[in-house]
Amino acid sequence: MNLNLLCCSLCSRGPDSHEHLFFECDEAKNIWYGVREKAGMGAIQNSWNDIFEYLLSIANSKKAANVIAKLVVGATVYFVWEERNRRLFTPKRRTKEQLIEVVLFTVRMKLHTMRFRYSVHTEHVLQEWSLPRGLRVADDDCG
Ligand SMILES: [Zn+2]
Repeated sequence: MNLNLLCCSLCSRGPDSHEHLFFECDEAKNIWYGVREKAGMGAIQNSWNDIFEYLLSIANSKKAANVIAKLVVGATVYFVWEERNRRLFTPKRRTKEQLIEVVLFTVRMKLHTMRFRYSVHTEHVLQEWSLPRGLRVADDDCG
């Protein structure tokens, strides 16, 4: 039995467990810390319970900031998991900076396909993601 399979393939120190990977692992934590500000989750620590509780509180919201938060968490989990598998099964690896970039790029691409009701706050949030004006919908019905 290969004991390395029991070790986290990101840091080679912690256990290969859900709690460690999301995001107690130093490598994964650094990726989370690199994207959480963009998700409006700068105050949320690297504990899955804290992240999950925050997600539950915004689960039904369609506000741009909350949709973005959900997308960022989803993309971060996906790419950390993918990187864990990449390092486990191939000699390839990406840097923290590359992983942060691919998370933000993926969320930005997804946001290009979405439309949000106009509000000053939404406008500000979308500006932070450098989305072109044409993608935003000015909704006259929005009070
Ligand atoms: Zn680790």
